[in-house]
Amino acid sequence: MSTAIAFLGLGHMGGPMAANLVQAGYEVLAYDPVPAARRQARADGAVVVDTPAAAVSKSAVVITMLPTGYTVLEVYREVLVSAAPGTLFVDCSTIDVADAVQAAELAVAQGHRALDAPVSGGVSGATAGTLTFMVGGAAPDFAAAQPLLEVMGGQVVHCGGTGVGQAAKICNNMMLGISMIGLSEAIVLGEKLGLSHQKFFDVVSTASGQCWSLTTYCPVPGPVPASPANNDYRPGFATALMTKDLGLAANALRDNGVDARIGLLAAEIYQRFNQDQSGMDFSAIVTDIRKRSGEDDKA
Ligand code: NAD
Repeated sequence: MSTAIAFLGLGHMGGPMAANLVQAGYEVLAYDPVPAARRQARADGAVVVDTPAAAVSKSAVVITMLPTGYTVLEVYREVLVSAAPGTLFVDCSTIDVADAVQAAELAVAQGHRALDAPVSGGVSGATAGTLTFMVGGAAPDFAAAQPLLEVMGGQVVHCGGTGVGQAAKICNNMMLGISMIGLSEAIVLGEKLGLSHQKFFDVVSTASGQCWSLTTYCPVPGPVPASPANNDYRPGFATALMTKDLGLAANALRDNGVDARIGLLAAEIYQRFNQDQSGMDFSAIVTDIRKRSGEDDKA
């Protein structure tokens, strides 16, 4: 049986992930409809093919890294018939839990195996091979995928059954969105009350308000030199992606009847910000809160 890997979706994340598999010695059959992505994959050493079916039919594992659940389902419907029985489908895209479950069911109905394996760590993590993978699916399938995921990631966690990898991703990013908004509101309040950004950081980073959004990703320039705030809020993690993830969380909250008013409000706040600023880093929400609070931009 073939040991090749089909890689479908060679964008910001999929491109470098596929390149790391090539670097580790795997034969990667790559497909993306965008010519620039195809050229880059060829330069990285992948075998670029003309259709998704051509990649899938010769591979034991199929990895997808696609924009939406709709696209994942569309691609699965297109390629499942071309795969050899027992092919392992690993979807690394961030999508609805319900779509992830449906994708896995489609694969299993065709005699294949399937995992949801979304990631955290962004483009820099994809490039460095240090992504965190959150995996849902059966234990033997997880064991089969683990060596590949470890090539692309620094941390690989089997979270539970089908869809539970997406659940972990959605829960994490809902907390991240909420914490970034809460922190930004506190920073703007501090500004109004005469507290400098550096003093805010010195106190809160070692007090009970401490959080990743402050200590690693501080949304105002100065205290954490590598944060996007020091680079005119160039992403980083774009507002469009945070808005997407909070939308997925909102769907899951509603589907499951969770009384999560803050999670739903966070989705609404980012949706509004996303209308004008989708390309900015998500930490730029602090500039919006400042503006809406009648303050000049102090960033
Ligand atoms: P991207 O838009 O850069 O890449 C998606 C790629 O999929 C594009 O190159 C597109 O041409 C390709 N594509 C679209 N339809 C296709 C099809 N039918 N067959 C094959 N390829 C197709 O997006 P990205 O930033 O690489 O993100 C991919 C996924 O990873 C998304 O679900 C995103 O939410 C998630 N994610 C992104 C980040 C990040 O920082 N960018 C971090 C974590 C998770």
